[in-house]
Amino acid sequence: MNILCLVKQVPDTTEMKIDKVTGTLIRTGVPSIPNPDDMAGIEEALKLKDRFQAHLTAVTMGPPQAEDMLRELLARGVDEVVLLSDMKFAGADTWATSTTLAAFLKTLPYDLIIAGRQAIDGDTAQVGPQVAEKLGIPQVTYVEEIMDYQAPILTVKKAYEEYSEILEVTCPALISTLNTMNTPRSMNVTDVWNAFEKPIRRIGFADLNLSEKDVGLKGSPTQVKKTFTRTLQANALKSDLSAPEAAKLVASYLSAYIE
Ligand SMILES: Cc1cc2nc3c(=O)[nH]c(=O)nc-3n(C[C@H](O)[C@H](O)[C@H](O)COP(=O)(O)OP(=O)(O)OC[C@H]3O[C@@H](n4cnc5c(N)ncnc54)[C@H](O)[C@@H]3O)c2cc1C
Repeated sequence: MNILCLVKQVPDTTEMKIDKVTGTLIRTGVPSIPNPDDMAGIEEALKLKDRFQAHLTAVTMGPPQAEDMLRELLARGVDEVVLLSDMKFAGADTWATSTTLAAFLKTLPYDLIIAGRQAIDGDTAQVGPQVAEKLGIPQVTYVEEIMDYQAPILTVKKAYEEYSEILEVTCPALISTLNTMNTPRSMNVTDVWNAFEKPIRRIGFADLNLSEKDVGLKGSPTQVKKTFTRTLQANALKSDLSAPEAAKLVASYLSAYIE
């Protein structure tokens, strides 16, 4: 069983701060981590490796610093890691990111692709589903449990807000995982040490069968016009009311929105 895991390196915060002058993210002093939903995917892949001797390859698109994250994944038990990195990939939106990832993924053998549900910086939850569409394979998003794999059928539990659904999907397929589904295993010192001896495969624009208009800023239909931090204003009203009085007050506020 060949499993490909998509992993994005993200800033270790959900409270992104924006430079008010340049409109760009302030990354100084914010350490980077593997995206939490992706780590859940890695842990599920490692469990499948334990059960079915699966071969795991982790793939990321990002700057050269993403190598640190890839070494961590090697230390955790991932067999191979790949970094897609090129100045031409810079400024990619989800469309260009998924185009680039899919162009590389289709050069590898795979039974299952695991993506995180959503990255904590971009927050769109679009990349996994777009990759599946571009590869023409079935997908199940919001997976909270991998229940079984009897080739080629993978049985998963998909989370909805108030209930879950058990689904069978025919592999090759893509699933997206939730960070609540497990606790990633810890690394030991020997594995961390050995990870520095292992190779990182690097892929650039020239290695992919893509045109310049497909990748990076040029391949991105979304252009972020302005990024800003919302300023919160403290103008709350505190009233000590009975339930009927409170209901009347709320209704009076809401009536302002009724024509
Ligand atoms: C504040 C902010 C706002 C943004 N707004 C938009 C926007 O509105 N529209 C837009 O198109 N882009 C936007 N982007 C750009 C966005 O970060 C990139 O498109 C990014 O490469 C992927 O989108 P995402 O982070 O939303 O990923 P998601 O779609 O949330 O990620 C889902 C999963 O896909 C996989 N994945 C995502 N990116 C990578 C990667 N580089 N390498 C490997 N696996 C990956 C991971 O498994 C991840 O868990 C924004 C970025 C920031 C920081």
